[in-house]
Amino acid sequence: MTIEKKKGRMNKQQRATAKSIRIDPDIVLLVQDLTKTYTIGNTKITALNKVNLTIRKGEFIAVVGPSGSGKTTLINCLGALDFPDSGKIIYNVDAKGMGLDIMLMTNKQHKKMRLRKIGLIFQFYNLFPILTAFENVELPMVIDKIDPKLRGEKVKSLLKRIGLEERMEHLPTQMSGGEQQRVTIARALVNDPLIILADEPTGELDTETTTNIMKIFLDLKNAGESILMVTHNVRIAEVADRIITLTDGEFVVEKKGGKSLENIYD
Ligand code: ADP
Ligand code: MG
Repeated sequence: MTIEKKKGRMNKQQRATAKSIRIDPDIVLLVQDLTKTYTIGNTKITALNKVNLTIRKGEFIAVVGPSGSGKTTLINCLGALDFPDSGKIIYNVDAKGMGLDIMLMTNKQHKKMRLRKIGLIFQFYNLFPILTAFENVELPMVIDKIDPKLRGEKVKSLLKRIGLEERMEHLPTQMSGGEQQRVTIARALVNDPLIILADEPTGELDTETTTNIMKIFLDLKNAGESILMVTHNVRIAEVADRIITLTDGEFVVEKKGGKSLENIYD
């Protein structure tokens, strides 16, 4: 038993090789047969059932589905915030085709992925109430021990990019919902992530503010960012390049998007 166990143990080099998979350099994220089940008492809920997905660089993909269809579970699994039961989540970590499966990573490596490779945006913003807009955006770089001078320049340029240079010193309570969500977009971009994962980013916003946020997403896409957004709002999803429908944890239909923002409410 002990010998068997020792035999099966890999050294650092072997582990690194086992985890890495050559993928098309153009692919940012490859998801294969992703499955996640929750168990409460005797009830088993399949939140994700063999989900497959390929996201290429510069693609904007929307996943739509009603409440309870598995959207948040998907974002949490891809964002290394929750652990799926099985499947593969391969990120093109060096952006050159060196794919690493986050299912095989340690907690420490997950933390690094979230800090450096994945930009997360949530429905309820998740900003620190005691930090200003500037400080909230700066925080991931503080945790990542980036040089303070570089931090300041980066934060200012990002807040300018999303039109919030006048709100730098404002606390979240001193900003509207749309402004707070723009701060989280800047925060998500701060470490130049491979991909932006957004969970119902406009769920709390009125129609006009929703349109403004979607405009920012489209600008980001046009600047080469890769985005996966989940939403129950089928209208705004239409501006994405591809729209995938999630029903009871399964990807059921995919259609082409690319509708212009002006026409989504037609
Ligand atoms: P959506 O974001 O599309 O509303 P979720 O991913 O939150 O869907 O949930 C998918 C399914 O998994 C739902 O049936 C939900 O009740 C269930 N679920 C989500 N999180 C948990 C959890 N932590 N424990 C048990 N069941 C959960
Ligand atoms: Mg949800």
